[in-house]
Amino acid sequence: MSVPPREPVERLAELMNEGPVMVLTGAGVSTDSGIPDYRDDEGQWKKGSPIQFRDFVGSDAFRKRYWARSLVGWRSFADSRPNSAHRALASLEKQGRLAVLVTQNVDRLHQLAGSENVIDLHGRLDEVVCLSCRERLPRDVLQRRLALENPSLLQVEALQNPDGDAELAAAAYEHFRVVDCEGCGGLLKPDVVFFGETVPVARVSRAVAALERSRLLLIVGTSLMVYSGYRFARAATRLGIPIAVVNRGKTRADEAAALCVRGNAGEILSQIVEGGPVVSAR
Ligand SMILES: [Zn+2]
Repeated sequence: MSVPPREPVERLAELMNEGPVMVLTGAGVSTDSGIPDYRDDEGQWKKGSPIQFRDFVGSDAFRKRYWARSLVGWRSFADSRPNSAHRALASLEKQGRLAVLVTQNVDRLHQLAGSENVIDLHGRLDEVVCLSCRERLPRDVLQRRLALENPSLLQVEALQNPDGDAELAAAAYEHFRVVDCEGCGGLLKPDVVFFGETVPVARVSRAVAALERSRLLLIVGTSLMVYSGYRFARAATRLGIPIAVVNRGKTRADEAAALCVRGNAGEILSQIVEGGPVVSAR
């Protein structure tokens, strides 16, 4: 395992000492927890693009495919645990060096690691919502209902995809039975923002307000290819708030950033934590 050069890490620690820090995280933070990333180091799709909202609501066949893959993929997704990057970010919050964490991830691993002030920009996969009556239920409850209706799929071993689904051949879900809302018969959807869907306005406003109070935007583990995350880099630039990037590959914020640290987020952030809380001279 390569150790990142000391100097950029020290510079990052200095920047983080300037005042309240908002961190924005993405899929790269969760890859070490076994949750694959959508995109490669160049920001390109690794495989076919993920399901679109209009496909999900507009097509029985798509929903069948989605829930079949989700039924199989959920088991290992639900078993995934925080890694050193999640733990370092939680420690930085406890040290008072990180004010708010905005994540594009839907895996809840930041909260599992102990982060408290988290905005789940794209929602969370462990809850399901009825699109008609808005009733919510835990994903685990739906998992049991899906499993009861489709016992044969429980034996299937499959390759994991991001967002908790798995690769399945079409034949495996030919007879799949989708489960609807028990109360009203409406369509159930994981409480996440699908591609082609917009992030709820109130949630964005809360994150933007947090950014306005910050003295640094720290971007970790995301190429910012999705606008809902990239908008914060744009806003930071507009507000004159410096940006620091910790990522393996290039990001859309690199040019605007005051500092880019390339490497493994867990290794880099752990060094910052070990540096301890830096006492301000003021
Ligand atoms: Zn309902």
